[in-house]
Amino acid sequence: MGKITHCYKTDLCEKSLLNLIQLKFSKIVCTIGPSSSDESTLKRMIKAGMDVTRLNFSHGTHQSHEEVFKRIRNIDSRITIAFDISGPKIRLGKLEKRYVLERDQQVILTTDDVVGTKDLLPVNYPSLIKEIEQDSFIYINDGFVKLKVIQKENNNLICQVIDGGNISSRKGVNVPDANLSMRVPTEKDIADIKKACELGADYLFISFVRSAKDLDKVREIIGKCSERNIGLVSKIEHKDAVENIKEIVTVSDGIMVARGDLGVEVGAAKVPVLQKKIIRLAVNMAKPVIVATQMLESMTKEPIPTRAEASDVAHAVFDGADALMLSGETATGKHPVTVVKTMAEIIQEAENNLSFNSSFVSESNLPKGGEIGQAAVRLGQKLDVDALVAITQTGYSARMISRNRVPLPVYAVTPDESTMRKTNLLWAVKSLHYKHDGDFDQLISSSIRKLYTEKFIQLNSDVIVVAGSVVGLPGRINTIQVLNVKETIES
Ligand code: PEP
Repeated sequence: MGKITHCYKTDLCEKSLLNLIQLKFSKIVCTIGPSSSDESTLKRMIKAGMDVTRLNFSHGTHQSHEEVFKRIRNIDSRITIAFDISGPKIRLGKLEKRYVLERDQQVILTTDDVVGTKDLLPVNYPSLIKEIEQDSFIYINDGFVKLKVIQKENNNLICQVIDGGNISSRKGVNVPDANLSMRVPTEKDIADIKKACELGADYLFISFVRSAKDLDKVREIIGKCSERNIGLVSKIEHKDAVENIKEIVTVSDGIMVARGDLGVEVGAAKVPVLQKKIIRLAVNMAKPVIVATQMLESMTKEPIPTRAEASDVAHAVFDGADALMLSGETATGKHPVTVVKTMAEIIQEAENNLSFNSSFVSESNLPKGGEIGQAAVRLGQKLDVDALVAITQTGYSARMISRNRVPLPVYAVTPDESTMRKTNLLWAVKSLHYKHDGDFDQLISSSIRKLYTEKFIQLNSDVIVVAGSVVGLPGRINTIQVLNVKETIES
């Protein structure tokens, strides 16, 4: 097991013999790709602080994803695995090679099935020509390349390059001026969702969600192919999603501020404020929120980050994000392990200087059970306990505690393996899979014993335990107990 990479109380760090804890408050999500999918790199990334893996259906095949999925599960069954569902994202097709588009050159975007060249770029959305107007702008590769539509002609859009830059196969294409009819889930998404169900994914990250209804359709497909409760994380990257944010957060199990596409769709200047607002809303509604894209982008090539990137990572922590995501940095970058280490270090430094004040989360319109979570953390702070413990079937009580952003570790003890992995995404939560058939009191004392024997907590620790008194009834938290570990174990 890894060494302690983070402690919350100096005295606990110094005395500690804990060998399991590798806990940060804000978690790290890593996209797995050619640079990181081998066993040795995955193991080193876990040791460096990776909490959640992201397998992206926009790249690779079902076969390659299945291999990586099984490899991760074999290495450590506690690591969370999320599949990213491409949604109605337009992409370039295959190009003969990489090209640089020059300002003012003409280029043709075609819906024909061809291999692309510098002057003729295939796109994977057949209705594009019909749904876009002349004079509209088209962005490629997260907005680095900008085109203007000069003329529509059969299956082709004749465009002028406004901002030149690099393009290669499968790069994303954004058309923020058009109201595209293609919605989540596409035919490809349906096949990908079924594959994720078959493998036993913990989360699905859903791209280009525009309204709450989009998630209904995804849940319907999951309902037909899986008995498990797969968490749905809505990627906020379209202007409709920004407008419908409250209804989307309500029906989602998590939110991602997908800054790459969001920056193209609404303009980069709006991203920082949206990031803060979306994080605050999601935290208030007790839904985990991930900040994604270009966090340590320069480390795709370089071994150290720019100071602006270090600052961006730290500010996502100060904003209260549950998790920070690495994309190309770990999928195709040169330093997949170093980048995770670097992110963990920046998170740790920022967390040593956290200052969420009591107004960070709202006191009104709390989610059901929110008052219990709030009372538990307040009591924990007053009594200066060492940790909070949530005995939880679905992870609900862990969410109700975590949302308060009080700097104490939260240990989620759950009989459900998938809940164990899902709660990994939550701020300050470390989970333990533990099944117990006894009554309520036995469940509490044996959970404390297990946390102790697994070295989550020490014998002299005081903890607050939050649970529902009817064992097996999810989502009903109604008890708070203050316990000393030694006394509980010996009683
Ligand atoms: C994004 O656009 O920021 C994002 C995370 O989505 P993807 O990487 O799938 O383009």
